Amino acid sequence: MIGSLTVLGLGPGAPEWITPAAQAALDAASDLVGYGPYLDRVPERQGRTKHASDNRVEVERAAQALRLAAEGRRVAVVSGGDPGVFAMAAAVFEALEAGPAAWRALPITVEPGITAMLAAAARAGAPLGGDFCAISLSDNLKPWEVVTARLAAALAADFVICLYNPISKARPWQLGEALALAAGRRAADTPVLFARAVGRPDESLRILTLAEARAAAGTADMATLVMIGASGTRLIAREGGAPYVYTPRSVAKRPCATSQGRT
Ligand code: SAH
Repeated sequence: MIGSLTVLGLGPGAPEWITPAAQAALDAASDLVGYGPYLDRVPERQGRTKHASDNRVEVERAAQALRLAAEGRRVAVVSGGDPGVFAMAAAVFEALEAGPAAWRALPITVEPGITAMLAAAARAGAPLGGDFCAISLSDNLKPWEVVTARLAAALAADFVICLYNPISKARPWQLGEALALAAGRRAADTPVLFARAVGRPDESLRILTLAEARAAAGTADMATLVMIGASGTRLIAREGGAPYVYTPRSVAKRPCATSQGRT
């Protein structure tokens, strides 16, 4: 019997942010493979086996999932957010590329999920209304010089910049350095969001200026998505609540001014 493999995203945390298609893939699975804390979010069910693994072993975990599928199991590989955004879908294809040719005959599907930056943006208003980009600050898989080169290019192009994996115990200084780089290209009052654990009970959303964000860099953690506004990103004050953060859809035809001149 031929098995199957689906890579799916559970969304940022809230159960109502799991898509019906991802839920159907979970319901159909005989085996769930993923990082322990994500699997904990899926209820136990008879006839469904959970294979929890550690955080840093993505390709091994992906190869295990492919092996199980090749043995005829219906496997769901579980990620947080969207499985294609800094997550397991790419690890599955890395393992597929390097693995036995027979694995390529397996039906592999990817079910999208709501990624952290979209959930964070929705909470804040509409900060991604113009052009934006996403950068992982983790230098586990790429040199830090690549991260800073991409950041510098994104800053020069005046994108809204979403920073995933901003900080961890093993990487305590990268966010501070990234925000210092941003301060060289953007005004000190540029809105910066620290969106933490969006969709979970301990969710928090902080709307800071770039200057405040630099001072607060150490208060972010691995559950935080940091969003640096573009030159057009602004706040709309409101009574009795945090301001809305939004980026207008339109940009002047001419290249826009930034704190450091013109881009
Ligand atoms: N596949 C995930 C991202 C994995 S990288 C997705 O699409 O969202 C892990 C990083 O995602 C974290 O360090 C954090 O920056 C961000 N993240 C994941 N879930 C989050 C949440 N609920 N709230 C805020 N940021 C989150």
